[in-house]
Amino acid sequence: MTGVTLRNVVKKFGPVDVIHGVDLDVDDGEFCVFVGPSGCGKSTLLRMVAGLENTTSGAIRIGQRDVTGLDPAERGVAMVFQTYALYPHMTVEENMGFGLKMNGHPKGEIKRKVTEASRILKLDEYLGRKPKALSGGQRQRVAIGRAIVRGPEVFLFDEPLSNLDAELRVDMRVEIARLHKEIGATMIYVTHDQVEAMTLADKIVVLRAGRIEQVGSPMELYSDPDNRFVAGFIGSPS
Ligand code: ADP
Ligand code: MG
Repeated sequence: MTGVTLRNVVKKFGPVDVIHGVDLDVDDGEFCVFVGPSGCGKSTLLRMVAGLENTTSGAIRIGQRDVTGLDPAERGVAMVFQTYALYPHMTVEENMGFGLKMNGHPKGEIKRKVTEASRILKLDEYLGRKPKALSGGQRQRVAIGRAIVRGPEVFLFDEPLSNLDAELRVDMRVEIARLHKEIGATMIYVTHDQVEAMTLADKIVVLRAGRIEQVGSPMELYSDPDNRFVAGFIGSPS
């Protein structure tokens, strides 16, 4: 059981309330997508699950574990960002294995995990290349590979495709759907792209100014939005 549970989660930056008490259950193996306007708190909420931001009050559980006060490395999560920040002087293989190497994992195990991740991501042929010899989509695959090799229980994605051009975005969207199917891990995915949300999500969470406006399957939100705000994000007018 490695779903993610948020209970009355609050975030203040100084005096400013950014997240106002969010309750959410992401089921084990579920693909959950956060949507909402710029500044509504999508990244902040995701970073709180990752442990990159502390929680002002409330609780976050991953599976049965209360992770609210834990460091990122102790949470069993891996995050993929919009900007992938690969090490330019390292090969694809070295980039993917670097985190494991720093944590003292044996060479053979690193090799095995990187080989497996590169198979999943179709990067086998590129393992010896440096990032500058890769396309944007391939670089983002390497960034996803870095997450996969860590074997996380939960994957967190913050607008991972926003820097790619439209055509690549479609390819990568299909790749991410395939990845979820193959790995079966719980995933939380932030996007402002309605098509990504509709096609990837089991569950969509519509956020507005630090609160959840509505939660439902893509079809539920599309055919039965609670209000115009949700309809504006997901589809048909209410
Ligand atoms: P989104 O990802 O939905 O665009 P964010 O989670 O990045 O929104 O931001 C939510 C709100 O919190 C915004 O008003 C933003 O300015 C504010 N915020 C985010 N990070 C910080 C920070 N480190 N310090 C102060 N305010 C922040
Ligand atoms: Mg953001």
